[in-house]
Amino acid sequence: MNKYSQAYAKDLDAQDELAIYRKEFYLPEETIYLDGNSLGLLSKRAESSLLKILDSWKRFGIDGWTKGKYPWFYLSEKLGNLTAPLVGAFPEEIIVTGSTTVNLHQLVATFYKPKGKKTKILADELNFPSDIYALQSQIKQKGYDPDTHLIRVKSQDGKTLNEDEIIAGMTDDIALIVLPSVLYRSGQILDMKRLTKAAHDRNIRIGFDLCHSIGAISHALHEWNVDFAFWCNYKYLNAGPGSVGGLFVHEHHFGNVPGLAGWFSSNKNVQFDMEHVLTPAHHAGAYQIGTPHLLSMAPLIGSLEMFAEVGIQKLREKSIKLTNYMIELVKNELNEYGFILANPLEEIKRGGHVYLEHQEAASICKALKANGVIPDFRAPNGIRLAPIAFYNSYQDVYHAISILKEIMVEKKYKNFKNTREVIA
Ligand SMILES: *Cc1c(COP(=O)(O)O)cnc(C)c1O
Repeated sequence: MNKYSQAYAKDLDAQDELAIYRKEFYLPEETIYLDGNSLGLLSKRAESSLLKILDSWKRFGIDGWTKGKYPWFYLSEKLGNLTAPLVGAFPEEIIVTGSTTVNLHQLVATFYKPKGKKTKILADELNFPSDIYALQSQIKQKGYDPDTHLIRVKSQDGKTLNEDEIIAGMTDDIALIVLPSVLYRSGQILDMKRLTKAAHDRNIRIGFDLCHSIGAISHALHEWNVDFAFWCNYKYLNAGPGSVGGLFVHEHHFGNVPGLAGWFSSNKNVQFDMEHVLTPAHHAGAYQIGTPHLLSMAPLIGSLEMFAEVGIQKLREKSIKLTNYMIELVKNELNEYGFILANPLEEIKRGGHVYLEHQEAASICKALKANGVIPDFRAPNGIRLAPIAFYNSYQDVYHAISILKEIMVEKKYKNFKNTREVIA
């Protein structure tokens, strides 16, 4: 069969054992949604778990903290337990709390202890701005100048990082390292195991931002000895806009006092003693601050149930097939139109999305949207396309690339301005 035909895509869908999950999600009508790496879609189970939490408020009022199917007082811990298999951690090493940026602040406030010669933080020049802002402000909090104390590893090609160069940056003056697991633009996976070992050999603590890897690839954070990690749950984990995030702290560090404390940092048995001396929980729960945002956490219950059913391995296998297929189509169909395939081609180095660069990326993304395909534009010239294992099909990929080809052949993108919208 012709590998570039629709029949071929149909055949792949027919063989796909995860295809049954598509009907578990609300797919926008007449739309091919390829933006699940920015905001995952709502599933029926996430909707139902949100309604259950609302219902326990309706029925029990304040007693919802301890009653109902999901007593609120223990929900952050319970969801942490359910997240553990996705990142390769012990259940107590995870807590669902905060947001990516808040959790980064919490972890840096805890793990960044400049002392003697070791005063600097090592990051990279391709990371998401929020992470960089948080690191800069944490450095200022300690009385240092971010211009001299935040070291950013350079990228040679503007898309990817080289692990050897990161390791070369682990010099004597570095106290802490914060890196992404998967780069948000190019989708490159960094070798977390190798980087963690190199950091520890040099007596440096290291943490990772898993926003673009959690729910997309498997991890072994505990085994790799990663000190800490943090993420959001609204991308591949489909827990909804602004949903509560999560964090990991290795059990080696249990018993540390959190940098930013609050009454939810407490050991739960004594929290309501209302003492003015904090007794922190002896697990990742210590990194909570205040009352959990229950309604923004509730959809994760239903979503994680599906991840538990399928397992991250199978999702990753399908995701690789989807991105490989998309890459094949891009190479075959779009090679005359000025696109650069800017994600790593090697499977083990590639996260869950495909990244194309083009001079007209902004107008191409607008044309895609006008033609029923939802991509993700990243300034100045990037197009991210994320076929999601849970709800995208091979035919989605086929149609999206056909539509993109038509936009290029007929120059439809010329009808749109090559500038970004407020939200891109
Ligand atoms: C999505 C994302 C964020 C978002 O942070 P929030 O605190 O959830 O707004 C931060 N860092 C990276 C790498 C991301 O991909």
